Amino acid sequence: MGNLVAIVGRPNVGKSTLFNRLTKTRQAIVNEEAGTTRDRQYGKTEWLGREFSVVDTGGWVVNSDDIFEEEIRKQVLMAVDEADVILFVVDVMNGVTDLDEQVAAILRRAKKPVLLVANKTDNHELQYNAPEFYSLGLGDPYCISAVTGSGTGDMMDLIVSKFKKESDEILDEDIPRFAVVGRPNAGKSSIVNAFIGEDRNIVTEIAGTNKFGFDFYLVDTAGIRKKNKVNEDLEYYSVIRSIRSIENADVCILMVDATRGIESQDLNIFSLIQKNAKGLVVVVNKWDLVKDKTVKVMKTFEDAIRNRFAPFVDFPIIFASALTKQRILKVLEEARDVYENRMTRIPTARLNEEMLPLIEAYPPPSIKGKYIKIKYITQLPNTQVPSFVYFANLPQYVKEPYRRFLENKMREKWKLTGTPINIYIRQK
Ligand code: GDP
Ligand code: GDP
Repeated sequence: MGNLVAIVGRPNVGKSTLFNRLTKTRQAIVNEEAGTTRDRQYGKTEWLGREFSVVDTGGWVVNSDDIFEEEIRKQVLMAVDEADVILFVVDVMNGVTDLDEQVAAILRRAKKPVLLVANKTDNHELQYNAPEFYSLGLGDPYCISAVTGSGTGDMMDLIVSKFKKESDEILDEDIPRFAVVGRPNAGKSSIVNAFIGEDRNIVTEIAGTNKFGFDFYLVDTAGIRKKNKVNEDLEYYSVIRSIRSIENADVCILMVDATRGIESQDLNIFSLIQKNAKGLVVVVNKWDLVKDKTVKVMKTFEDAIRNRFAPFVDFPIIFASALTKQRILKVLEEARDVYENRMTRIPTARLNEEMLPLIEAYPPPSIKGKYIKIKYITQLPNTQVPSFVYFANLPQYVKEPYRRFLENKMREKWKLTGTPINIYIRQK
């Protein structure tokens, strides 16, 4: 089970600077794709061998300078609800402000570990300002500088020491874990009920054979049913709430509402799924409400979804109704198939037989008169998603479009629907 650290505080104290410092290096390794603006809000990091996620609650607000007190209050409540450890950032150059006091009042009541982080302590003199923060009633202020990095290592030690023990829950590794995710009112609880209603005490966190004909876990179903009125209306709240389910799943069943189409929340949740390299099945729910159910309309829906999620477009889309239970079995079957695709192993001989002739016919474009040769391909063992290494004489000259070409060809040849794959080009 992953731990989640939330950064809270009023605007301009350095939350996003701290977020970047905590997550940047790690993200660059995990995600070779170009960064999106959404990267500001959620990232992963590792310290002392513990991997955890970090959320910058300020990152969701478009213009954080005009932020309303009410908005901050909601962010803090959300962090208290969802995070395992809260970093409350204050600014030693500015001292205690009214907003700091309001945030502190909420955090003092929270039953979660809170670290009071006195940021912008760029030098020793500034440390002498820190005692002022004792008045917030949250214990010792922790002096750091997000800009220089000073104090952040010790702070990380402290964060990790607050985490829950590694979970000792025993889950069968060979049974797929599905998470149902989506924005509020997309129909998550309804579909989970439809799944469970088929055979009441089987699914949820406990595995068992059931009348769908195969075993699976549904992760975090309790979280879906527990509604939180305070924060339901916050755009990004559903996004933060899905983090844990996504991290704990192999395949995510992303519910979208047929009557609303794809909106920014759907995209944000999709982005979390991508960032965690999880399998994906998209369910266009409430299909019963769509009057014109022609093939043409379905095609339009499909194209619109794939356009919004591009460049990742190879995933199943099911038109379903949690209410009438139309195609809900199909949803589970697709999720199971994606799970299997995610574990695909392609023998080296087949990879080379199939791909090398293609590469020969369409080689990477030469750069500065240099020819790029790909000689050998192999799949890496024991990876989270299928990962392939293409050995080349000049790997730095193989650009993104060509990598995409290789990926598309592989997706045509093998069953990789719904799963991300990695393609690495390395020196032979
Ligand atoms: P946020 O609104 O809380 O996310 O704050 P930002 O991370 O955007 O930082 C606000 C301003 O404070 C920016 O100009 C940062 O460069 C600056 N800042 C952040 N951390 C530090 C620090 O450790 N020292 C100094 N001197 N400035 C910092
Ligand atoms: P959640 O917030 O994502 O868990 O969404 P709910 O499952 O609570 O559903 C929100 C609302 O949409 C409820 O009123 C449901 O009855 C309704 N709903 C969910 N699925 C469907 C569906 O497939 N068809 C129709 N017509 N309504 C649905």
